[in-house]
Amino acid sequence: MNKKVIIIGAGPAGVSCGYELSKAGYAVEVFESSPYIGGMARSFELWGQKVDVGPHRFFSKEKKINAFFTHLIKDDFTLVNRLTRIYYLNTFFNYPIKLFNVLTNLPFLTIFQILWEYIKVQLSPIKNPTTFEEWVTNKFGKKLFEIFFKNYSEKLWGIPCSKIDADWAAQRIKSLSLWEAVKSALIGNIGNKHKTLVDQFAYPNHGTGVIYERAAEFIQQNGGQVYLNKPVKKVIQDANNKVIGIELMDGTHQLADMVVSTMPLTILVEGLVNTPLPIIEAAKKLYFRNTLLVYLEVDAINLFEDNWIYVHSPEVKHGRITNFRNWSKELYGEKQTTIICLEFWSFDQDAIWSASDQFLADLAKKEINLLKLLPQEANIINDFVMRVPRCYPVYETGYQKHLSMVEKHLDTIENLYPIGRYGSFKYNNQDHSILMGLLAADKIINGTKIDLWEINTDIEYQEEGKIKDVLIQ
Ligand SMILES: Cc1cc2nc3c(=O)[nH]c(=O)nc-3n(C[C@H](O)[C@H](O)[C@H](O)COP(=O)(O)OP(=O)(O)OC[C@H]3O[C@@H](n4cnc5c(N)ncnc54)[C@H](O)[C@@H]3O)c2cc1C
Repeated sequence: MNKKVIIIGAGPAGVSCGYELSKAGYAVEVFESSPYIGGMARSFELWGQKVDVGPHRFFSKEKKINAFFTHLIKDDFTLVNRLTRIYYLNTFFNYPIKLFNVLTNLPFLTIFQILWEYIKVQLSPIKNPTTFEEWVTNKFGKKLFEIFFKNYSEKLWGIPCSKIDADWAAQRIKSLSLWEAVKSALIGNIGNKHKTLVDQFAYPNHGTGVIYERAAEFIQQNGGQVYLNKPVKKVIQDANNKVIGIELMDGTHQLADMVVSTMPLTILVEGLVNTPLPIIEAAKKLYFRNTLLVYLEVDAINLFEDNWIYVHSPEVKHGRITNFRNWSKELYGEKQTTIICLEFWSFDQDAIWSASDQFLADLAKKEINLLKLLPQEANIINDFVMRVPRCYPVYETGYQKHLSMVEKHLDTIENLYPIGRYGSFKYNNQDHSILMGLLAADKIINGTKIDLWEINTDIEYQEEGKIKDVLIQ
C-alpha cells in the first residue's frame, strides 16, 4: 500500500513537496487553512487585473528548482528586465547601486565620507561582527551603511540594526563587496554571478501564484488531495512521541505515515506533547514581523518604470512600492489603469496592525502623494488592504541559539518534517521554500541524509547557471 503523507499548508514549500511525493506514488493530502493555494506567493484577481502579494521575483541558479518551474510553467513566462530603485533624500538611486548614479546624486562631502569610512574599516575591521550593523559596516563602511541599509532595515524589522543578527546580512547580501558593486556599476552585470545584481528574471505571465496552482493540480492529477479552508490545529503523536497524523480545528483527526509541516514553527511546537520546558521557552523567544499591503488603483498607465521601489526615506512609514503594470502584460490585459501596492511592516502590538482599512488607505494615499510618484492628473480610484501575519521571521541577535534548540528537539520526533518560511523560521524566498519541499520529499522517498534546517540562501551558490540558460533552451 502507498504510504500516506499529510502536508500542512499549500504554499510553495507544501505543494512542491506534494508534487515530488505524488510523482513517486505517495498518497498525498494537503490541508490548507485559507481558501487559496500559494501562501504568501499566491496571485489573485483585483479590479479585473491579476496581482501578487507584494512583488514576487523568482530567481534561482539551482537546477532542481528551475526544472520544477519549467515543468509547471513551460514557456508561459516573461523575462522581465528588472528595474528597482531606492528612494532616499528625495532622490532615486539605482538598485543595485550604480556608481555614476551615486556620484551624481550625493553631495561631494558625502562621497568623501563614504570613501573615507570604507578605507577606515578596511584597515581596521570590527572583529567577529555579530550584528547586521557591524557586518554591513565591515563590508561597506559606516557611511554607506547609514545611507543604503539602516533606514530600510529598521523599517522592515522594527528593531535597531544593532539588534538584527548578522545572519540576515550574510544570507541576503552574501559575498557582494563594494568592489563587486562598483564593478557592476561600471561595466554592468556581464559575467557577474551575484544574485542581487541579476537584472533579468522569469515571471509567470499570469502571476507568480500560477506555479503553485499548477503544482496543486499536478498533485490532484496524480491521485492526491488538496483541501482548502482546513486549518490544522496540531500534529498528533503516539505514546513514543512519533507523529501519526493531524488534528484539524474542527476536532477531526486524520492519520498518516508522515507529516510535513509548513505552519508557523512556533505554533507547531505549542501543539506537541511531552515538549521539555526549555524547548517551549526557546520557541516562545522566536517571533515574527507582519506585513500590511495597501493596493491602490490609479487611473493612469505610465506611472514609473520600476517593478518595485525601495523607500528608505524616514519621513514615510511604508518601505516598498510595487507597480504591477511592469511585470507581464497578461496581468492587466486591456485595462487602462495601474495597480500599485505599498508595504508597511508591524508587530502584533503596534497600533498600525489593528488600524482600520480606511486609515491605512488614507495613509498610503498621503504617502504616495508626498513622494510625488503619480502624474498630476492621475486619480486613485480604488483601494484594498491586505494583512499578512507572521511574514518575516525576525533574526534578532541570539535567535539562532533558541532556534537550534527547537530544531534539535524536533529532529527527535519521528515522521515530522518542518519546512518553509515560517514553518522552519528561515527567511526564505520562493526558491528556498521550493527547494525545502523538494528535498523533504527526497528525504522521505530515498532516505537521503540532508539536513533540511541547513537549507538557506547558500544553496543557490552551489551550482552555476542562470534562469535564462535553463529556461530558454
Ligand atoms: C510582500 C512579500 C514579498 C515577497 N517577495 C518575494 C520575492 O520577490 N521573491 C521571492 O522569491 N519571494 C518573495 N517573498 C517570499 C515568498 O512569498 C515566500 O518565500 C514563500 O511564499 C514561502 O513559501 P512557504 O510555503 O514556505 O510559506 P507560505 O507561503 O507562508 O505558505 C504556508 C501556507 O501554510 C498555510 N498554513 C499556515 N498555518 C496553517 C495551519 N495551521 N493549517 C493549514 N495551513 C496552514 C498558510 O495559509 C500558507 O498557505 C515575498 C513575500 C512577501 C510577503
